[in-house]
Amino acid sequence: RALIELSGIVKRYRMGDTEFEALRGVDLQIQRNEYVALVGPSGSGKSTLMNLLGCLDTPTTGRYTLNNRDIGTLRDDELAAIRNQEIGFVFQSFHLLPRMTVLGNVAQPLVYRGIPLKERERQAAESLRRVGLGDKLQHRPNQLSGGQRQRVAVARALVGNPSLLLADEPTGNLDSRTSEEIMALFDALHQDGQTVVLVTHEPDIAAHCQRTVRVNDGRIVFDSAAQATVSEV
Ligand code: ADP
Ligand code: ADP
Repeated sequence: RALIELSGIVKRYRMGDTEFEALRGVDLQIQRNEYVALVGPSGSGKSTLMNLLGCLDTPTTGRYTLNNRDIGTLRDDELAAIRNQEIGFVFQSFHLLPRMTVLGNVAQPLVYRGIPLKERERQAAESLRRVGLGDKLQHRPNQLSGGQRQRVAVARALVGNPSLLLADEPTGNLDSRTSEEIMALFDALHQDGQTVVLVTHEPDIAAHCQRTVRVNDGRIVFDSAAQATVSEV
């Protein structure tokens, strides 16, 4: 069974007396170890879809199954546990805690799992070595470059071995050379078996992925995986 199964997903936002349909019937399956770029114009529903995938929000109607769990049936505390254990998030602006060391930032998600300090630090250091920052454990985020800060964010996203790594415009704040370095890191994680879904506006970034899914006006209007299936017939 696929890691991600979305069927008939509708997401409506209520604003006062009016409602806005940000997603209008999305069906999507993503297998384990896929590397997917979600593309589409601004306002098309990409962030809304990412927020649903990441269990930050739930659909108005439709079914979302992640790793065999029916997400729509879960209580808020169960949803929070799924977010903590199954999902790693990377954002455009790195969202690091400025007063904490790099090691402390990366160890943070493990606090909610009740893992003792020494073990948290061991796993955080291992995750930081994976992104090439094993020599920066005691630095503060403001002592690092933009690309290094995003690597810290990736290490934090990976620290609990999530089944799904989500990245919303992960290179949006980086120059093109640094963006390529971050994408080389995602490529390597994918090679290691990580499932990765990222949002991007840039064709050069999407070209790193195996599969491109285009969203427009709340619907999936193109899926390169579906295209491949059609051409094989
Ligand atoms: P994208 O990420 O593709 O730019 P979004 O998913 O952020 O698109 O937004 C899709 C549409 O839904 C936009 O018209 C946006 O204004 C609207 N929208 C997104 N989030 C909310 C919200 N929390 N409340 C109301 N409208 C929202
Ligand atoms: P960016 O991708 O640059 O961070 P977005 O425009 O995609 O910015 O929106 C960031 C967040 O704000 C998303 O979580 C989205 O759901 C929310 N959002 C977008 N449009 C609206 C809106 N009209 N009202 C409330 N929240 C919104």
